[in-house]
Amino acid sequence: MLSISTRPGRSFMGRLAKGDDLLQSLENFCQEQQITLGEVRALGAVTRARVGYYDQEKREYYFLKMDQPLEILALVGNISLKEGKPMVHAHVTLGDTAGRAWGGHLAPGTTVFACEFTVQEYQADQALARQDDPATGLLLWPTS
Ligand code: ZN
Repeated sequence: MLSISTRPGRSFMGRLAKGDDLLQSLENFCQEQQITLGEVRALGAVTRARVGYYDQEKREYYFLKMDQPLEILALVGNISLKEGKPMVHAHVTLGDTAGRAWGGHLAPGTTVFACEFTVQEYQADQALARQDDPATGLLLWPTS
């Protein structure tokens, strides 16, 4: 197990534009603001969604595409470094017309209808950088 001590940095609130790619635009924002460590939250709606599910046996992501308007009931994510650049790792819960919830690992291909986001930057004495994790096959933070 590894953890680092963080202190609050800058805080941002904003709105994405209709038609934006949800993940890509959040990541672009973090890169423009040079946020290398932080948290992201958002709510709103999308016109279509693409979310991943990681098959732990096969060590592959499967992607679920939902070609319909959905509410973003919750988006939670973190910001850290991947290959020296800010990367957003986010999961979303999406609601359909019957109020049913769907969700997964947010992937490119999710299109914003409306989205209000909050980003909290953190300061720390050391960086959190993703690296290959042989135990899971994922790109994760180190544990030691
Ligand atoms: Zn994930």
